[in-house]
Amino acid sequence: MPFSLAYALKTDPGQVRPLNEDAVGADPDAGLFILADGLGGYNAGEVASTMAVSALLADLPADFLAAHQAAQPFDPARTLRERLTALNGAIFRAALNSAAFEGMATTIVVAWFLGDRLWVAHAGDSRLYRLRAGQLEQLTRDHSFSQELLDAGMVTAEEARVLPAKNLVTRALGASAELDPEVHEHSLESGDLILLCSDGLTEMIDTPEIGSVLSATADDVHEAAQRLVKRANEAGGRDNVSVVVVAVRGGCA
Ligand code: CA
Repeated sequence: MPFSLAYALKTDPGQVRPLNEDAVGADPDAGLFILADGLGGYNAGEVASTMAVSALLADLPADFLAAHQAAQPFDPARTLRERLTALNGAIFRAALNSAAFEGMATTIVVAWFLGDRLWVAHAGDSRLYRLRAGQLEQLTRDHSFSQELLDAGMVTAEEARVLPAKNLVTRALGASAELDPEVHEHSLESGDLILLCSDGLTEMIDTPEIGSVLSATADDVHEAAQRLVKRANEAGGRDNVSVVVVAVRGGCA
């Protein structure tokens, strides 16, 4: 890989919720980082988020390797779409077939670093941000009710962030028979800092504060992850809070 990656994962139940239904995972050798925020009663959300992270960690690197071994060109966007669509069906059917898992679903955000490109796939309101040259930019657009109100100009960004109905996601793995995951490709530069996070972070602290924490801790991904979760908890920790911080270092060979 032309860039080297330093990363930290952190997930925390927060100050109020008895369970942590978020899940995070990484395969650093494959350049793969995943965060999911489970939805559903009892522990069903936890089942869905864990199932999603472990399935993608197993399948995506295997798809890449299979293409490599067969000397086939590899299409990350198509692979991400196919895997997310299949996983959506698997979670949807599991939820239909078991009362214990009724209504379970999960948001997903996948960051896949391949060569000098970053592939981002997501469904729901878990986000991916990029800090580049001191500027924090949100690279995903939430699939949520509050984002739709924001797009329609009915609320301001600050109002959308604290709407009571903000947790209503309009796309999630397992929520319906069909899923249209969003997949985008981005450039990478040495010095980029990538943040994946659940809404338990963005609900508690605003984007400027996320940017200032990341800027202040850019040299230490573990410190960055720890401080973001600590700030969300200090601000009330009303939801599970999870972050994955990835620093892009070195240059293209
Ligand atoms: Ca959440």
